[in-house]
Amino acid sequence: MDHRPESSSQAKLKVKVLYYPFMGTDIDTERLILLARLCYSPMDTDQLESVLTGDKPSKEEVGRFIRGLIKSGHLGVLEHWYTTFAVEGYSRISSQQNDRHRLMKVFKEPGVMYFNEPVQASADVSQLQQSQRYVKEDNFRYVTPPSFRKHPEFLQRYVKLQEEVLDMQRQGLSLGIPAEDVRFALTNATETRFVITTNARQLRHMFNLRCCQRAQWEIRQMFNMLLEEYKKIAPNIFYNAGPSCEDLGYCPEGKMSCGRAPTIEELKRAYKERKKQT
Ligand SMILES: Cc1cc2nc3c(=O)[nH]c(=O)nc-3n(C[C@H](O)[C@H](O)[C@H](O)COP(=O)(O)OP(=O)(O)OC[C@H]3O[C@@H](n4cnc5c(N)ncnc54)[C@H](O)[C@@H]3O)c2cc1C
Repeated sequence: MDHRPESSSQAKLKVKVLYYPFMGTDIDTERLILLARLCYSPMDTDQLESVLTGDKPSKEEVGRFIRGLIKSGHLGVLEHWYTTFAVEGYSRISSQQNDRHRLMKVFKEPGVMYFNEPVQASADVSQLQQSQRYVKEDNFRYVTPPSFRKHPEFLQRYVKLQEEVLDMQRQGLSLGIPAEDVRFALTNATETRFVITTNARQLRHMFNLRCCQRAQWEIRQMFNMLLEEYKKIAPNIFYNAGPSCEDLGYCPEGKMSCGRAPTIEELKRAYKERKKQT
């Protein structure tokens, strides 16, 4: 059996933003949102183009415009801002939670790199995930929940289990058993890698749900890391982005709320009280 030290097989979570509008050019990515001015003034196509590349408005004005749209709930325009990010060091089990975001196309063939350019944009989330049918898991890394570290004996059993699973993968593959069958012996902790393309509106929605205290630790960690990256790239588009309580000022979790912000029920009660008094 391969008794490699735990650290060499430990997956380390990493996120990388691979694409966003005008990446690698001199054009400020947030200017894309200025196209929404079309809704409020009679702009022709040349004027729309110059909005992206001209000196005016200033960076500060662009920021004010975007934050104004977000504050007034005019979020549809954010669906035009498409982005692609890659993740590694994430467990296969938590990747199933990503799949719950429904408007989604899944590409599982390995090696297919699909970048969703704005011209292809639609209100969706697209995902590519490394296949366990085609990529042999004979040297896999795995994720260890931090809670295991408080229980050394349990952790030791877990590490042993992963080593046993790795040994089985190698044996199965060397016997010529197809990888798609050998993978049945893998655990949920096996590292997966994926690429997701989505738009800023959906990303903000996922931050609302997944940066919440109630979210599972691994998906929360991933979305917190992404939030940090996206705030650097587009601070106005991701203005106030984060868990629902910080973004919306209320908690949609009802009785499960952690208590940081009022729940919808509490707000409704307060509203009814106020109405009674007027
Ligand atoms: C803390 C937490 C706990 C959870 N616990 C559970 C659990 O115990 N069991 C469980 O099964 N799931 C659970 N989930 C998953 C959850 O139920 C959702 O499936 C997941 O968060 C996807 O979010 P969404 O529903 O907003 O869908 P998304 O696909 O992200 O959709 C975005 C938005 O588009 C709209 N939309 C999308 N599809 C439709 C449609 N078909 N019709 C109308 N509007 C649509 C909705 O407004 C939706 O909010 C949990 C999620 C969280 C964050």
